[in-house]
Amino acid sequence: VTAREPIDGDTPIHSVGIVGAGQLARMMCEAASALGIGVVVLAEAAGDPGALVAPAVVVGAPDDPTALRALAGLCSVLTFDHEQVDVDLLRSLEHEGAVVRPDPATLDMAVDKGEMRRRLAEAGIPVPAHRVIGKASATDALAAIADLASDHGWPLVVKAARGGYDGKGVWPVEDLADASRVARRASDAGTPLVVEEMVAIDAELAVVVARRADGSAVSWPAVETIQVDGLCREVRYPGTLGPDLARRAGEVARSVADVAEAVGVLAVELFVSGDRLLVNEVAARPHNSAHWTIEGATTSQFENHLRAVLDLPLGSTEPTAPCVATVNVLGGAEGADPVKRLVPALRVPGAHVHLYGKAPRPGRKLGHVTVCGDDSDDVRLRAWTAARALGTPVPSGVDLSGSGATARGGAA
Ligand code: ADP
Repeated sequence: VTAREPIDGDTPIHSVGIVGAGQLARMMCEAASALGIGVVVLAEAAGDPGALVAPAVVVGAPDDPTALRALAGLCSVLTFDHEQVDVDLLRSLEHEGAVVRPDPATLDMAVDKGEMRRRLAEAGIPVPAHRVIGKASATDALAAIADLASDHGWPLVVKAARGGYDGKGVWPVEDLADASRVARRASDAGTPLVVEEMVAIDAELAVVVARRADGSAVSWPAVETIQVDGLCREVRYPGTLGPDLARRAGEVARSVADVAEAVGVLAVELFVSGDRLLVNEVAARPHNSAHWTIEGATTSQFENHLRAVLDLPLGSTEPTAPCVATVNVLGGAEGADPVKRLVPALRVPGAHVHLYGKAPRPGRKLGHVTVCGDDSDDVRLRAWTAARALGTPVPSGVDLSGSGATARGGAA
């Protein structure tokens, strides 16, 4: 199959090239296998999580033109495991005939928090009050921060517009002195910035949408995500959200997918603050907040991502159970490999364990556990119990005493 063959709904060409070979690529490979779809991953190293299971691997950097062209030559559609991509290079590949999904214009928005804030605000989608700073001198950055502070007061949150993940690149600032330190460091490192109001967050939600090129879309129900120190520890369907909030979040996410002209899966992370619902983050790829859909929904995010990028019919997003909890498996302080601890985790009834084949390091996301059932405390307790058995440190707000994991996890 070459990059130049058209995709036809009646005779689909089943070959997807994935830029990046992390856990998302790995789980896309699992879904592709079930559908008989061929996959090639572009991995930085042969031992990357996706490369360990992909039927074909190209080794190279995601911004290396030679490696990307080799990947494009082996598949009918290019898609992504992460956002560390060179959008201009993807545009030139498109001109050479490659089919890139999502489109580079969508990626432009997803890779840059400034561009994202700008485009969403323009479309009337609610986002935190902000100033887009970009790459600026320390003086200019500080002026923009002070300008927002004069409207909103302190504290504010300064963020790296590009390259942040898992809360790395998010800096709360209390006053001008703090802001000046952050501005100087960012300016020295050439890091583009945005600054925004510090939102009083009551809860964090996520909605994932799968959208085809013709604009047709489906979305999974909103979930509550529990973050500790900027890192997602737990995902709950339906969580503590009322149906009205969940519906509003779904509508906002569909609008975001339309504004982004997403093709494939798009994840929207939102803050609930009083009666405000604000879009925080957009990712144009499968997302940690929807790993629960592998067992918890009729069609997983990974399968619908493949279906969407190949222009195949989308599958139902209906949950398979009234309650679903997913807990991320993180490396413990002692750095033990969770694979060596499978036995106690697999003794937990109904625990679906996913390990990504990553080298264990303290605090690193190494896998996740999903439990589906009828009772929200019960599924949450079982998911945490299995994740702890795999070595995951348990945050202080989570009570595993057996009387129900009722406390919220975001105690940090
Ligand atoms: P990343 O891209 O690193 O995941 P996010 O922008 O999603 O960064 O921020 C990580 C976490 O930091 C969020 O989940 C939230 O808990 C907190 N956070 C981010 N922005 C704000 C904000 N404006 N106000 C309050 N908390 C925030």
